Amino acid sequence: MLLGPPGSGKGTQTERLVAEFGFTKISTGDLLREAVRNGTELGVKAKSFMDAGKLVPDDLVIGLIKEKLKGLKGGVLLDGFPRSLEQAQALDQFFEVELAVDLEVDQEVLIKRLTERRSCRVCNAVFHLEFNRPKKEGVCDKCGGELYQRSDDTEKVVRERFNTYTERTAPLTEFYRKKGVLKSVDGMGPIDDVYGRIAAVIKAA
Ligand code: AMP
Repeated sequence: MLLGPPGSGKGTQTERLVAEFGFTKISTGDLLREAVRNGTELGVKAKSFMDAGKLVPDDLVIGLIKEKLKGLKGGVLLDGFPRSLEQAQALDQFFEVELAVDLEVDQEVLIKRLTERRSCRVCNAVFHLEFNRPKKEGVCDKCGGELYQRSDDTEKVVRERFNTYTERTAPLTEFYRKKGVLKSVDGMGPIDDVYGRIAAVIKAA
């Protein structure tokens, strides 16, 4: 799993790790946004929490993950789950975590990464107006889909997401450190450099 604050590079690195290691990706953020777009019962319940930069209630997200993990074979990469101790404890009941990579990035860098991020409406690929520009403005390099700014990537919501991270998610590093599966990785600098550090940690595990 990839831990780390919003904007630390979990989504970007997940795309590449999936392509090169063949993991199955499970991103609760992508799944929840899809539910909101489709207006499902889950989406309707989740929307107000997401718009406010808060966590969607644990029981909803745990149910979603359980459903997605059912019958999956091979390596799985969790992006954005777990995000609370309750979720981590629930996950322990049905999934063995082999490695938790914690991406460490300075807060000013995180704000810039998030507020200038653009995401693909179709395949969820992520770009950045300066650090990871799409070849054609507004168009996804990977699938040709439309790029948009997530409604929670505005500065006001981003600040609330940081508060939520500090209160609810940061304690998970200690949880996984105690289990002996935590590796902290420097998430600053070019995407390729961060990828190299993560890949090395995975290969060594
Ligand atoms: P992300 O795309 O990972 O930044 O997630 C976007 C938003 O979806 C978060 O700010 C939360 O509101 C919600 N979300 C994603 N994953 C979780 C989770 N594991 N638990 C609770 N809420 C989540």
